[in-house]
Amino acid sequence: MTLIDFLREFPDEESCKRKFKEFREQAGVVCPKCGGTDHYWKRDREQWECKSCRTRITLKSGTVMHKSRLPYRYWFIAMHLLTSTKKSFSALELQRQLGHKRYHPIWHMVHKLRAAMGKRDGEYVLAGRIELDEGFFSTVTPPDKRDEPLKRGRGSQKKTKVLVMAESELVASPKKGAKPRRVGYLKMRVIEDLTKETINEVVRELASDATEVATDGSTSYVDLKEYIPRHDAQVISKDKVGEVLPWVHIAISNAKRQIINTYHDIKPEFLQNYLDEFCYKFNRRYASQTLFARLLFACVTYKNEFRYLYG
Ligand SMILES: [Zn+2]
Repeated sequence: MTLIDFLREFPDEESCKRKFKEFREQAGVVCPKCGGTDHYWKRDREQWECKSCRTRITLKSGTVMHKSRLPYRYWFIAMHLLTSTKKSFSALELQRQLGHKRYHPIWHMVHKLRAAMGKRDGEYVLAGRIELDEGFFSTVTPPDKRDEPLKRGRGSQKKTKVLVMAESELVASPKKGAKPRRVGYLKMRVIEDLTKETINEVVRELASDATEVATDGSTSYVDLKEYIPRHDAQVISKDKVGEVLPWVHIAISNAKRQIINTYHDIKPEFLQNYLDEFCYKFNRRYASQTLFARLLFACVTYKNEFRYLYG
């Protein structure tokens, strides 16, 4: 959606609210008390009323905007900017563009949108052949670790560890110069440490449908084959990494570049949110035309337990 299209479709608060209501009804309004799905719309109060138990449901309840006092249009503008730009968009920049006085509500809104993206992608479990590796992202040193002597390299307090997994099918006969593997879905998860237990737990949660995993032969992964049928652990030299694990490395370097270019001084506890946004957009790279609608749908169904109608 271009900016012109956006302004035409959402010229004011009313048009955003109307679209929001339309999406909620499309997703199905469910009574939180009795589970009823038939409601009256009370126009004067802007609430639904359950036909069976009379419980009132506000427009925002159960969505990502629950309790938000910001205008719908702010949310729509934020969703538009997050989904229409190739790169990311910082809350500070958004606050400037909106001319909003306080930073925190805007920051909170953008993080809620990223949480909706993360939750939506959480519905999907990686399958087939996957690549797996760790990335080390620069973050600010947590206050409780500032007095410790600075460690170098992978164990540094200035780095946050991230486990990266990508579906990666072998291309039967790749064209000359093309990558030997084709990438599918991507996942990134901040992890506390690089122990076998931690890594196994994350792999089990995010990639339980995987049939084969390629790693660089680091010892943490030794018992992956307990639940992934085939584990191809190769000790690889630096110049071969691009052949064996091409996509996780491309994803890690793109994510780093994008995050560093947009944000400064990322706290480790918020890194996951930025990664969620990166993965969400990466995983829908062929659906950029419908990204806004998809995100809006993820927002209105944020607290729903039922399966999503579309991605
Ligand atoms: Zn009810």
